[in-house]
Amino acid sequence: MTVLSQVFEHIDQNKDAHIKSLSDAVAIPSVSAWVTHRGHSLKCAQFFSDRLQALGFSTELRSPPIQHKVEGQIVELPPVILARSANEDPSKKTLLIYGHIDVQPAEKSDGWNTEPFDLTERDGKLFGRGATDDKGPVLAWTNAIEAFQKVGNNPVNARFILEGMEESGSVGLEELLNDMKAKKDSFLQGIDYCVISDSYWLGDTRPCIAYGLRGAIYFLIEIECANQDLHSGCCGSLVHEAMSDLVWMLSQLTDVQGEILVPGIMEKVRALSKEEAATYQGIDFDIPKRRTEMGAPMFIHEKDPARTLQGIWRYPCLSIHGIEGAFSEKGFKTVIPGKAVGKFSIRTVPDMTSEDTQKKVLDYLNDLWKKRGSPNRAVFSSPDAGNWYYADPNSPNYMAARRAMQTVYNVAPNLIREGGSIPITLVLSECTGKDVCLLPIGCSNDGAHSQNEKINVDNYVMGAKVMAAYMQELSDIKP
Ligand SMILES: [Zn+2]
Repeated sequence: MTVLSQVFEHIDQNKDAHIKSLSDAVAIPSVSAWVTHRGHSLKCAQFFSDRLQALGFSTELRSPPIQHKVEGQIVELPPVILARSANEDPSKKTLLIYGHIDVQPAEKSDGWNTEPFDLTERDGKLFGRGATDDKGPVLAWTNAIEAFQKVGNNPVNARFILEGMEESGSVGLEELLNDMKAKKDSFLQGIDYCVISDSYWLGDTRPCIAYGLRGAIYFLIEIECANQDLHSGCCGSLVHEAMSDLVWMLSQLTDVQGEILVPGIMEKVRALSKEEAATYQGIDFDIPKRRTEMGAPMFIHEKDPARTLQGIWRYPCLSIHGIEGAFSEKGFKTVIPGKAVGKFSIRTVPDMTSEDTQKKVLDYLNDLWKKRGSPNRAVFSSPDAGNWYYADPNSPNYMAARRAMQTVYNVAPNLIREGGSIPITLVLSECTGKDVCLLPIGCSNDGAHSQNEKINVDNYVMGAKVMAAYMQELSDIKP
């Protein structure tokens, strides 16, 4: 019997104990958005620290080096857990695992069928807040490591970064990691591979590995026609209305097919290679099913699943998010807003750059404004930008993950990208100089952030096996 099959057997035999530890973890309501729950955040950090110490890790609870203010009050940030094996073997590869142990808010009255912080098993599913995002996957790593220790030795040196603020924008983590990098902290030295299990398969049957994330750049259009709101009865046709200017500007950003009308915006978008195009064939994605779930009348590329996925993953998009100053309540109000602010963003992809995209968009807005010919005060800005992430799905790290999925599920995983962002991915990659494998174990219908969040028992158990097989594969990579 190979070591790996003994490991798998151990994971199977200890299923109940592993579900029990997930139940214990879910019972701690470590909601990072609830400042009053910081005691629970700390208790949760202690829980995971204890779990890792029991597996022979030395752990440190480190506070981020910043002050965090909520409504003017300084509030304590939950510590970040840094864990590494007490006796790392320099002859082994070192794997850095990131996860988070905080959760989204949840209350039964939100529409849960069961108590959100009381893990409940039904029909092969484990319902509870954090079951899939991200306490389940973090515990699955520890279950895999435990199994290796029971039957021999962990084939890699594992290190953990577990944070308690992910659901609240990872406040302080980037600063902590950059500080550690600047001080050449030994924790970040000697890392060979990084991995994150904090995303989901595309569907609920076929395992997936994600190798890209889009970036996001935010824009504001601020237009002012008066220093106060006006009444349309006395001031309509008196001034050039800010809201009319703004709506006209916003309408020039995309066409009905969603194409971005900013000149040159597609110039730097990486061409679709034959090899990449082939990865879209046979992907587990059902347009009618997804569309019906959403209640949308038609998708832009309704007849073309590959193009639909490319639209979400590898091409940029522009979305209008809102208008400040608009009267948005029910009923009528004859107000002319004195100032209107439009908000939109562009999701970016390889090889777009933030500076180039910002310049092109702001130039376009200035040109449009000239064309509009309004005398109003207008300011165009881009207050925030986060870069995209792309890793080579054929790199040794990714190939190890792909082989691990194949071993456990007996099928090649779908290679997918995420349309959204996991900003910590870029930070980890920059701090270690290594690529970060995005290795999801949960399904798209797990309901992360939603009512009745769950992880399937199968995904929890098989996920630990994938993680074990992945660590074994990493250790087999020849330098
Ligand atoms: Zn998460």
